[in-house]
Amino acid sequence: MSLPADYHMHTPLCRHATGEPSEYAARALALGLTEIGFSDHSPMPRDDFDNWRMRLDQLDDYVERVARARREHPALTIKLALEVDYLPGQEAWVRELAGRHPWDFLIGSVHYLADAWDIDNPAKLSRWRERDPFEVWTAYFERLTLAAGSGLFDIIGHVDLAKKFCFYPQEDCMPLFRRFLAVARKSGAAIELNTAGMRKDCKEIYPSRSILELAHELAVPITFGSDAHAPGEVGADFNKAVALARSVGYSHWLRFTQRRREPVKLLAG
Ligand code: ZN
Ligand code: FE
Ligand code: FE
Ligand code: ZN
Repeated sequence: MSLPADYHMHTPLCRHATGEPSEYAARALALGLTEIGFSDHSPMPRDDFDNWRMRLDQLDDYVERVARARREHPALTIKLALEVDYLPGQEAWVRELAGRHPWDFLIGSVHYLADAWDIDNPAKLSRWRERDPFEVWTAYFERLTLAAGSGLFDIIGHVDLAKKFCFYPQEDCMPLFRRFLAVARKSGAAIELNTAGMRKDCKEIYPSRSILELAHELAVPITFGSDAHAPGEVGADFNKAVALARSVGYSHWLRFTQRRREPVKLLAG
């Protein structure tokens, strides 16, 4: 039992992932993981909001597919969760979703800076080219700080997602990071080490070492996630992520069960 739980994985219901939850579970067992959690892209109040998430009428199907993976892999602990988009003004919707099923945790992610701009969408790269990176990072971290302070989420997803396509600001972003992490600390939100960044242009785990160092200094707890969109991505680069966490001083990760937290010792990967 050396690796922490992989708490960020998707299903085909979001329309851009492949493989059934059972296949992700089988891969996790093959890797020696003892715990995983599904956190697929949650529905929006309007199904035509975008094309990369499950529809609202598929939520029960999602829960059933995760339940099936549990039945087929009793040796593995499988948590039920969602990756929820944080959009200011949509707090009531998140509360409603939270009450629909016995979620183990909710990941709050900021993908949208405006209703029509999901900043990690490669189809919208031109929007990045029209804007000053610092202005975008500032707006992104302001939203992320609102998400952390909302108290709606157990974990904040891929904290520095804005680096995905390498539009790095010249300006010092540490004050943005510090404000976000101070609010996360105060509201009790954890952050995740998300290894999907290793598979993107930025070729780096989310968040960067400097953000993680500050998170540790402020005692913000952590979880781990591959953000797998295919069974082969489960647990990807977890040895690197564990080494990074330990190198900045982390000794525990958080386990979530029905939205209650429990620190678990972080062993060498
Ligand atoms: Zn996705
Ligand atoms: Fe995401
Ligand atoms: Fe994700
Ligand atoms: Zn994600």
